[in-house]
Amino acid sequence: MPKRIELHCHSTYSDGTLTPAELVGRAVESGVELLVLTDHDSVSGGADLFAAAAAAGLRVKLGIEINCSGEGAADRIHILGYGLRPSAPGFAERLAEFRQRRSVRAQRIVEKLRALGIAIDFEHIRSCAHETLGRPHVADALRRLGVVKSRKEAFDRFLMKGKPGYVDSMGPSPVEAIALIRDAGGTACLAHPQTAGKQNELDELVRAGLQGIEVLYSGHTPSQVRTYGDWAGAQGLLACGGSDFHGPMTGRDERLGIEYDDLAYASVMERL
Ligand code: AMP
Ligand code: FE
Ligand code: FE
Ligand code: ZN
Repeated sequence: MPKRIELHCHSTYSDGTLTPAELVGRAVESGVELLVLTDHDSVSGGADLFAAAAAAGLRVKLGIEINCSGEGAADRIHILGYGLRPSAPGFAERLAEFRQRRSVRAQRIVEKLRALGIAIDFEHIRSCAHETLGRPHVADALRRLGVVKSRKEAFDRFLMKGKPGYVDSMGPSPVEAIALIRDAGGTACLAHPQTAGKQNELDELVRAGLQGIEVLYSGHTPSQVRTYGDWAGAQGLLACGGSDFHGPMTGRDERLGIEYDDLAYASVMERL
């Protein structure tokens, strides 16, 4: 019997639009049997997540997604962490540092947009975010101002690399992100590999300690699922994956969860 599970989604603690409790409700409605919350640079949604899950009788776990920066494809590499201990020495401090750098980046983006004549306000953006700030919060502010109609339009016109509001990511290097997750006892996996460069770049991540790769992903075609499944098999990597659900109004709010067959389910449950 295939099982529907979600190993990659975001809440209001980062750039999602549903609270962890609302995600739990959505998961139950969508027939999801296991929900893993993977907010960007934050594990603060854990308390709400576990409380709501206990009340709803849903199985949940807490993970993370760390967006990287650096040369080449590094600024498109996002590393997911599973099964980590949030209380591991230094872990919370590093995340706080990453969030602080994100805040600086968002302020620089706002300055660039203001220089274009857009009356956007950083403090307002800050006050709308629960914890981790990102470009999606700037996109939402542009939407509230009527400058764009969607997050996608904000990225396409202003926030993507090469566009007038772009500022480089200030995240850790992929090597640092993998080490941070592993030092906290977690399993480090590459998110959405289709955005993350070529196979030789993946080989470098594997040498740095990468343990898994998203094979099943909401945006993957059947041929991408085969390609990344082959990569995982050849490198001995765990084949994981989720929907990258961000909630209503984000452009990433298809049904929560992905169908796993018995074999794929057994292997993720053994290793996550
Ligand atoms: P940041 O972490 O600030 O670099 O922003 C990256 C985040 O923006 C990703 O995690 C996605 O959630 C979101 N994102 C990127 N591109 C788009 C897009 N075209 N439409 C909506 N959200 C996007
Ligand atoms: Fe995101
Ligand atoms: Fe991502
Ligand atoms: Zn994500």
